[in-house]
Amino acid sequence: MDVPTPSALRSAFINSSRSKAASMSLPKPWPPARADELDFLGWIDPKAPQRAYLAIAPAPLHDLTCVELRLPSSPARRSKQTMCDLCQTPDAPDGSLLMVAPRAGARGRSGDTVGLYICSDFACSIRARRPLKAHERSVTGAPDTRVEALVERVTAFVDRVRG
Ligand SMILES: [Zn+2]
Repeated sequence: MDVPTPSALRSAFINSSRSKAASMSLPKPWPPARADELDFLGWIDPKAPQRAYLAIAPAPLHDLTCVELRLPSSPARRSKQTMCDLCQTPDAPDGSLLMVAPRAGARGRSGDTVGLYICSDFACSIRARRPLKAHERSVTGAPDTRVEALVERVTAFVDRVRG
């Protein structure tokens, strides 16, 4: 995806206050490596390790949209074996984390949230492009739709946050 500017990101949040969006920190390096292969951007706030962010690119149906996520506070709730709900692999080196997004607007302010397990390094787009091993290829020759499926899942997640 095209990497948005920090100010474009800050104004694209749908579930965060203006002051929290202003306090968002970007990871280094920015823009991230291999940005052209990323279907979405995601990162843990380098200055606030229990906050993370996910941004999807402008597409026919969407403007740039940013979601604030909360990470588990207790290491016991982190699971190394859990399948990521977005790329549907357990392959992130540090596993997947349950990330919880307050819903946009009044619902979020009253405590309504949406949660997903997401690779802790947010590299789902790279995993969805990993060459398939011989035993993973379809015996019937069905096309590899991992990237399309990932885009659908991340878009559906953002739509649920938006309400
Ligand atoms: Zn993933």
